[in-house]
Amino acid sequence: MGDLISGTPTMTEPRASAPITQDVLTLPRRLPEGGRLNLVGLTREQLRDALLAAGTPEKQARMRVGQIWQWIYHWGVRDFAAMTNLARDYRAMLADRFEIALPEVVTRQVSADGTRKYLLRIAGGHEVETVYIPEENRGTLCISSQVGCTLTCSFCHTGTQKLVRNLTAAEIVGQVMLARDDLGEWPEPGAPRNETRLVSNVVLMGMGEPLYNFENVRDALKVVMDGEGLSLSRRRITLSTSGVVPEIARTAEEIGCLLAVSFHATTDEVRDRLVPINKRWNIAMLLDALRDYPRLSNSERITFEYVMLKGVNDSDEDAKRLVRLIRGIPAKINLIPFNEWPGSPYERSDWERIEAFADIVYKAGYASPIRTPRGEDIMAACGQLKSATERARKSRAAIEAEAGL
Ligand code: SAH
Ligand code: SF4
Repeated sequence: MGDLISGTPTMTEPRASAPITQDVLTLPRRLPEGGRLNLVGLTREQLRDALLAAGTPEKQARMRVGQIWQWIYHWGVRDFAAMTNLARDYRAMLADRFEIALPEVVTRQVSADGTRKYLLRIAGGHEVETVYIPEENRGTLCISSQVGCTLTCSFCHTGTQKLVRNLTAAEIVGQVMLARDDLGEWPEPGAPRNETRLVSNVVLMGMGEPLYNFENVRDALKVVMDGEGLSLSRRRITLSTSGVVPEIARTAEEIGCLLAVSFHATTDEVRDRLVPINKRWNIAMLLDALRDYPRLSNSERITFEYVMLKGVNDSDEDAKRLVRLIRGIPAKINLIPFNEWPGSPYERSDWERIEAFADIVYKAGYASPIRTPRGEDIMAACGQLKSATERARKSRAAIEAEAGL
């Protein structure tokens, strides 16, 4: 997730009290009986169906969809009464049947470098985190796709959390809208268009495996990419997967965003331990799926994420094997210094080791940026997202046993 600066943290609000994610399996969310339907996160087609079901004449439906869409996603309006190009009665009908609802912000922490971490509460009292990472000429929002994660990558904090539930499309789009609220980024009517966007990029690198929540992630990203609303180009959205091979081609075809893959190891033996999904789809199967991605999605290159774990996957041999494995795939290798968390069974590779590894990859012709950890002071860095209560539940021994150490 968000990797930000080091430095002394300043918190604008007190640190979150222990979040309350519970140890139960919550499966699909149901609408409250007789409750108002949330319009956030609906695709244009779903919005149209909802308006038709509410009595909108067929002939007007398309236009109403366009108008409401603009109010919600271009102007950031939450109140139907403010939708002044709609008839008063129609606005009243909308307010009666629908809502424009976002997750609730429980706490917001700000690191010295400006990294912001939001703890959000969603239906059922579950909690997820979103991180905003400001940089020189862009701002990246790292969003979550699930509460927790069913996968159990042994170096990842989120993976030790037991409860998992998929986020709805509304909860995924809502994270982008909330960040714009907090940054004051909705356009002012009449003001000149501001071309420098604070949330200029979105990465699905928060909690959860996005390809285990495919439909909701796809629908949410379609809303985020829609040119008449939030309007982020598909080239500014990166989805990170641990390697859910059967969904990779579909991601190219149905979403078309950039892809990052949590590679992390160069032999199946080590990857089985670090990223256990490798036991199901191994390195060779993963690489086959990746090879087709740039063509299917019409995008340039894939980002290989590689977490640097001391003595585990960081040797010169690993670096050489890595470049051999990915030969022929347009790629960039993002080296991620391991971010420790309480009880984590690994250590971060030494800086010289990371540089030596980066050098081998670079000399083989691949960009090999080292991700600067950001927001560590507020536990906002990659792999650190998770609630405090959950964190306390597993002992180091239990984590090590699961990691096969
Ligand atoms: N589930 C998806 C996306 C979320 S994780 C995936 O695994 O790709 C985002 C990135 O952070 C992944 O590459 C993940 O492997 C990495 N990561 C997880 N824990 C980490 C840690 N403790 N230190 C550094 N990176 C970590
Ligand atoms: Fe899940 Fe990604 Fe963490 Fe693995 S690294 S446990 S897939 S969030």
